[in-house]
Amino acid sequence: MQDLIKKAAEGIRAARKVVALTGAGMSVESGIAPFRGVGGIWEKYNPEEYIHIDAFRSNPAKSWKLLKEMGEAILRARPNPGHLALAELEQMGHLSSIITQNIDGLHQEAGNTDVIEFHGNARRLVCTKCGRQFRAEDLRLETLPPGCQCGGILKPEVVFFGELIPPGALQRAQQEAQSCDLMLVVGTSVVVYPAADIPKTAKWCGAEVVEINPQPTPLSFSVSDYIIKGAAGKVLPQIVAELKSDLENSQQIPKQSTGPGPC
Ligand code: NAD
Repeated sequence: MQDLIKKAAEGIRAARKVVALTGAGMSVESGIAPFRGVGGIWEKYNPEEYIHIDAFRSNPAKSWKLLKEMGEAILRARPNPGHLALAELEQMGHLSSIITQNIDGLHQEAGNTDVIEFHGNARRLVCTKCGRQFRAEDLRLETLPPGCQCGGILKPEVVFFGELIPPGALQRAQQEAQSCDLMLVVGTSVVVYPAADIPKTAKWCGAEVVEINPQPTPLSFSVSDYIIKGAAGKVLPQIVAELKSDLENSQQIPKQSTGPGPC
């Protein structure tokens, strides 16, 4: 694994523009369960039965059982060493943006400034009737589903199964995938579309694709150049440490990522 960490650090240092795509595995070490894999929400609930938009419309109280559990875990969570390492990569001038499927806001809390929220953010809620916005931390979810003064039902500002990706996020994610020359794919099973197409776009446009995940994914045997098998909170800090030692040895100044991409 040490060889691959060195290889990833070298790739990042040589790259003109690095973009990360992150998924639920990124926040496992912050105490938020993923959907799939060991300890995943899927072991207890079928998310499509609870957080498909049609399920929410026909039985919001049932959907809110899962939403409340996830929301509480998100409000308790703090960035883990993996989030902090990605923030440090940005500060070092080595990471342009993060496209995240996560709805927990932990990348921003860690300090990353360009985070594309592909599936929204569970810390924000909106009334489905009058459009009034709320902060999750201000609500006490004693009766479910939570309601607005106008009589409408509140919904987290997240993309449910069956809903479209916010157009701005989709467009920016595509631009970032097309213009990077190295993509880090961290903690995602890469099976939820259209997010799963993002690394394929990057690869198609000439980028190196490096996965960080304890388990292989459908990408590992096709799109990825290699996979570093390990937890995000362990592997990412090691890559940052390797970059720092490279820098100390060579006394080189890291490049800023600017300019057009290969696509
Ligand atoms: P997923 O649940 O389908 O897959 C999780 C992946 O993370 C797996 O491949 C697993 O092997 C890997 N993993 C587990 N622990 C890890 C660790 N410590 N370090 C690195 N990788 C680890 O996740 P997904 O692909 O992101 O798709 C699920 C959907 O669920 C997303 O759309 C997301 O919106 C939503 N979701 C978000 C959160 C969150 O915001 N934290 C949590 C659960 C689900």
